[in-house]
Amino acid sequence: MAGYVIGVDLGGTKILTVLANLQGEIIAKKRSATKSEQGAEKVIDRILTTIDQVLADSDLTIDEIEAIGVGAPGPLSVKEGIIHHAPNLGWKDLNLKQLLESELNIPVFIENDANTAALGSKWFGAGKDKQNMIYLTVSTGIGSGIIIDNKLYHGISDSAGEVGHMVLDPESDVRCRCGDYGCWEALASGTALGRLGQKAVSSSSYSLMEELVDSTDQIDGAVVTEAAAQGDKTAKKILNQVTNYLGIGIANLLNILNPELIVVGGGVSQAGDIVLEPVREIALKRAMETPAKEVEIVRTQLGDNIGAIGAVAKALTQLGILN
Ligand SMILES: [Zn+2]
Repeated sequence: MAGYVIGVDLGGTKILTVLANLQGEIIAKKRSATKSEQGAEKVIDRILTTIDQVLADSDLTIDEIEAIGVGAPGPLSVKEGIIHHAPNLGWKDLNLKQLLESELNIPVFIENDANTAALGSKWFGAGKDKQNMIYLTVSTGIGSGIIIDNKLYHGISDSAGEVGHMVLDPESDVRCRCGDYGCWEALASGTALGRLGQKAVSSSSYSLMEELVDSTDQIDGAVVTEAAAQGDKTAKKILNQVTNYLGIGIANLLNILNPELIVVGGGVSQAGDIVLEPVREIALKRAMETPAKEVEIVRTQLGDNIGAIGAVAKALTQLGILN
């Protein structure tokens, strides 16, 4: 079967659009700034421009495109293609599917970005040949996409996979952006690393973290992991605390879902083994024996392209080409 699909990764800071053949091989790629402060109409114009550009670069027309997949921040309704609430885009109840379909006259499929990353990993990354897996993104927050028997699990209102909001410490006074206290992402995300780093530096003696930044408020997850990698004691202590929570949360997921594979992506995972190794150890120790025995916990291999590759996988699964 000849034909092509387009995948769009719509993020708070950038839009990445790729054109791929039906085997999922990328033929053209275009990046644009999102500039959401200019309003939804302008953002949609920029999405359409990147689509025109990948078509031009591939000497194709929109008539040769079978479908478009879009990974977008949620919560959203997959079937209707409505983005209900995306604070980093400033969008509320925007029907992105309808808007794009009326411009392009081809089917457009909208999916939550953690879910598209899960699809990308499942079909084009570490999850090939795996039927039950979880993609876990650990960056400013923690999110996931859950694949059961080769299919994304959405739940009744497309909000499945909000693992970052399982409460791991009911006594915690750390408020999560969801309003609750002691959520996993409040304790174990890049944001948590940064918060703990800043607190440690302002309240204790010397740490290498101070030397890596101009001012304390610049200490983020990357600074903490870098200082820990260089042997800084304070940073190592913080990293231990956070990887402990990461491991415990993953152990909970292993006990509930018994997956074959957990793929970890997002900014915090880029620190590599200094994060992944303790997380693996704690997760496998804390989980029950049977689910711990089967699972592999790995870092994503798809890099920055994961969102766009996942959006391609979304289009190909909707077309029934991947199943
Ligand atoms: Zn929360």
